[in-house]
Amino acid sequence: MNCPLCERVKLTKIGNYPYLIHEFKHSYLMLGEHQFFSGYSVLVLKEHYREMTDLPRPLRDEFFHEMMLASKAIETAFNPKKMNMCSLGNVVDHVHWHFFPRYADDPEFTDPPWLRMKLFESAKITPAEAVSSIAKIKQALN
Ligand SMILES: [Zn+2]
Repeated sequence: MNCPLCERVKLTKIGNYPYLIHEFKHSYLMLGEHQFFSGYSVLVLKEHYREMTDLPRPLRDEFFHEMMLASKAIETAFNPKKMNMCSLGNVVDHVHWHFFPRYADDPEFTDPPWLRMKLFESAKITPAEAVSSIAKIKQALN
């Protein structure tokens, strides 16, 4: 298998992924490696499934609950005007959700976040720069 998210899950399990925020029963919440939108995070299912509809119950229900906890924590920590949650999987077909906090001062607030994905690379952060945002979200989860 050649799945970058399975690889990331493997790294996270052994403590080698520095952007980890929280381990849920079925997923890992990770701060995005870019912060074009402050607080951008990704929730990655531990097991490889292609579609949300492939998840057996109760896994699907429990994972949905983890999504809600993750989103709420990011909302509490970053206070966006609106949270954008998306799951596409066209590039990596391993179930994961993107959480893009969107802010009132964004001149392109009504645009989907992906329209600016070419700029994401310019907002890459180091693990050291991720520490404070990770701590904020962790605190909101407790
Ligand atoms: Zn995978």
